[in-house]
Amino acid sequence: MEVFTVENVPLIKEGDDIADIICKNCDLMGNDVVVIASTIVAKAKGMVFKLDDIVAGDEAKILAKKHDLDERFTQAILDRSKEVIIDFPIILVDTNNGHTCIKAGIDDSNVGDGFLADLPEDPDASARMIGEGIEKLTGKKVSVIVTDTNGRAFKIGQTGIAIGVHRIHPIKNWIGKKDLFGKVLQITEEAIADEIAGAANLLMGEGDGGYPVAIVRGLEFYSDDETSIQEMYRPGKEDIIKKGLRCLSKV
Ligand code: GDP
Ligand code: MN
Ligand code: MN
Repeated sequence: MEVFTVENVPLIKEGDDIADIICKNCDLMGNDVVVIASTIVAKAKGMVFKLDDIVAGDEAKILAKKHDLDERFTQAILDRSKEVIIDFPIILVDTNNGHTCIKAGIDDSNVGDGFLADLPEDPDASARMIGEGIEKLTGKKVSVIVTDTNGRAFKIGQTGIAIGVHRIHPIKNWIGKKDLFGKVLQITEEAIADEIAGAANLLMGEGDGGYPVAIVRGLEFYSDDETSIQEMYRPGKEDIIKKGLRCLSKV
């Protein structure tokens, strides 16, 4: 497997055609996984906003006070969330799209002064649009993963993770396969979309590198199926961690 960045990506602005920019700056091959930082997907879709345009409601004002945050910022978080799972000392939410993250993934890095960047509203749809654009331009069938940088519950440090996919199933199922000693695996499902996002993020970095797109070549995960990030979100009823966290925030 090989991972490399796409060079010469400009500062992305509303209306930019990410598929076209990628195709102009690298030679893709079939089966490549094109990994794209959500920040540029949001910027291309014009999903950046200013706090001045937001009016905070009562819930946002209470949350803002607890955290010493701008109440318009907490309103923006609430607007993008279907549930606040923990409201203090971190703001952990389920976004309207089903992704669980801190502060609804709203980002103030790598956007212009005074602006905030949203997560893409429907990252699967964004991945599909870019993947189909690439196929139209090159005839190559590629997988696409849209990523963000997230923390993990039990470890210090953030990693690249997948928030949207196209033509790649985010989970590789090992159940029924054998281990070295012939024992049949019972529960292992490998989160390949997150692993690929993590590999790509090693090259993207988090700062001023200017590498929002990385290509992962040599894996055989391309699928003609309609795929979705929802395949890797644990169904509510089975999510015991969230159940526990909800109890905690009511104490
Ligand atoms: P996120 O993980 O999606 O929130 O994105 P980051 O803000 O961590 O940025 C990931 C990478 O993309 C870093 O190398 C940034 O410098 C780069 N990046 C972000 N926006 C742009 C852009 O508009 N143009 C270019 N060329 N690079 C960008
Ligand atoms: Mn981000
Ligand atoms: Mn990042």
